[in-house]
Amino acid sequence: MSAGFEQTRALEERYLMRTYKRAPVDFVRGEGAILWDAEGREYLDFLSGISVCSVGHCHPDVVTAVCEQVGRLMHASNLFYTEPMARLAQRLSDSSLGGRVFFANSGTEANECAIKVARKHAHGRGIAAPEIVSFEGEFHGRSYGALAATPAMARNEALGPMLPGFRSVPFNDAEALRAAVGESTAAVLLEPIQGESGVFVTSDEALSAAREACDEVGALLILDEIQAGMGRTGSLWAYQQTPVRPDVITAAKALGGGMPIGACITGPEAADVLQPGDHGSTFAGGPVATAAALAVLEIVDDPALLRRVRELSAALRDGLTALAGVREVRGRGLMIGVGLEEGIDAAAAGATLLERGLVVNVPRPDTIRLLPPLVVDSSQIERAVGLIGEAL
Ligand code: PLP
Repeated sequence: MSAGFEQTRALEERYLMRTYKRAPVDFVRGEGAILWDAEGREYLDFLSGISVCSVGHCHPDVVTAVCEQVGRLMHASNLFYTEPMARLAQRLSDSSLGGRVFFANSGTEANECAIKVARKHAHGRGIAAPEIVSFEGEFHGRSYGALAATPAMARNEALGPMLPGFRSVPFNDAEALRAAVGESTAAVLLEPIQGESGVFVTSDEALSAAREACDEVGALLILDEIQAGMGRTGSLWAYQQTPVRPDVITAAKALGGGMPIGACITGPEAADVLQPGDHGSTFAGGPVATAAALAVLEIVDDPALLRRVRELSAALRDGLTALAGVREVRGRGLMIGVGLEEGIDAAAAGATLLERGLVVNVPRPDTIRLLPPLVVDSSQIERAVGLIGEAL
C-alpha cells in the first residue's frame, strides 16, 4: 500500500463516521469499465459504483456536458426556470409514464417524494391514516420515510421510533399482498428487482396482483427503479418487461452518470397531487446534474445499446451458470446475483476477486452481485467470468 493510501485511511479512521466498511483500495481514476487505484493498478469494474456509472466511468459525452454546464451556470435555485431541468423532465416523462417529475438529489429523496405523493393522494380519497405496503427484502433508502419502507432496517430499534403507516408481506407472496391492501392503503411500493437484498426478481404474478389490488381500492402502484431502471435490465425501465404499468416510478443512481440526482416520475393519476409548498429541495434539478442526466439518457435510451445489454446478459449468465460453485444465476439484463453453493463464502470470494482486479459486491453471505457498466464488452465479460471461476 502506498503512503498516500495509509494517510487517507488514517484520516478516515479519525474523522469519518463509521457508517461504511470500506475495501482496502483507493480509486483515483476511471475510464469505461476500468478503474485505477492510487498505485496505478488496474481493475475491471463489475459494480459501477453500485449501478451508478452505467455509461462507464468518465464517458466523454457526460464529461463534456458537465464541463460545459459548470462553466456556464452551476446553480440558480428552484425559484427560477432552468432549461436542462425542464428538458430532462420532458425526456423522463415521455419515456415512461407521461405525467410530471419532481427532481431530488438521491434515490432516497426520490422515494421520499413518492411517499409524500402517495400519502397526499390517499388523504384526497378520505383516508386519515394512509398505509404503504411493501415486500420483505425491499430497500428504498435511509431517510425516515424510505427507511420505514425498508423492512429489515426498519426493525433497528436503536433508530426508532419509525414513521408509522408501513407494512410488509413475504416476498413474491401475491395472496398476502392482496390481503394486505385495503381501504387504508395509499400505495404499494415495490422494487421490480430487489437489488440490495441480493438480486431477486419480483414475479410477474406478484406485480399483477399489486396492480389489481391497487386498482380495486384506488391506491397507487409505485415501482422503485433506482437500481433496476435506466437500461440496467435491458429496457430503459424495468417495468417495461413486466405486465404492469405503475402510477409512479423513482429513478436515481445511473440517471446522473455519477452526478447526484434522483427523480420521482408520475403518470397522469398522480401528476398533480403535489402543489406549491408541499415539497422542495435547494439543489434538486440543478443545471449540472440535469445536463449530465440528459447526456446519459442520450446514450442509454438507445434501442441498439439496450439490445446489446440483453445479448451481453445472455453471455454473462451462460458463462456464470457453467462455473463450478455456482448454484443459481438471478436477475435480468446486467443486474445479476450469483448464488453460490453451500460452503462457499461469498465475502472471501469477493475479497479474492478484488485482489485479482475484479470489482464486485457481496450483498449477502451466499451471493456475489454483478452490475457492470452497460458499455462493457464481451471480452471483459469473458475475463470477469474467468476470474470468478478461479476465485470460486
Ligand atoms: N432504492 C433502491 C432500489 C436502491 O437500490 C437504493 C440504493 O441502493 C435506494 C433506493 C437509495 O438510493 P440512494 O442511496 O441514492 O439514496
